[in-house]
This record gives sequence, structure tokens and C-alpha cells, in this order.
Amino acid sequence: MRRRSPPRVGTIGGLARQQRPLFVTCKRCGHEVRLNPANLSRQYGGELPLQRFLERAVCTACGARWPDIDCIAPLDVQPVDRAADRSRRH
Ligand SMILES: [Zn+2]
Repeated sequence: MRRRSPPRVGTIGGLARQQRPLFVTCKRCGHEVRLNPANLSRQYGGELPLQRFLERAVCTACGARWPDIDCIAPLDVQPVDRAADRSRRH
């Protein structure tokens, strides 16, 4: 199986469809926030490329901007809205 590398490609809407959380990390101060792409998609529009979003992002802790800010959307994290879902069978 091919493992896709965590991207800065794709769009906000794409992440929202895959229900993947978006972690934005500040490399300057270490501040990290977890964002819900579904909310971002409503706010900015699903067409917004992740890279473009990153270029607009500002660290709320120290004010740093890209490229001091990086983001990652891991594939192996539980979906944002279903993290508490215990109905999964095995
Ligand atoms: Zn910062």
C-alpha cells in the first residue's frame, strides 16, 4: 500500500471531505492549533488551496507568519467529528 505524504497540497474543502483535522504549527514559538477544515471551508471557501491558507495564517501566540508557520494534515488521526465515536466494530 502506498502511503501518501502529509501535504501542503490540495484544498481546504478536500480535507473537509476526508474529515481530516489540520494542525498548524509555529516553528518560532512552538504554538500548535488544531483546526477543523469544515469550519475553514465555510469561512474561506472549499476551493482555497492549503498553501494559500498557510501564507495567510498568523501565529496567534507570537505573530509569526509563513514560512515560520507550517501545517500538517495527518492521515492517521481520527476524524474531527467522530473522535468520540465508540460504535466502531472490530
Ligand atoms: Zn508563534
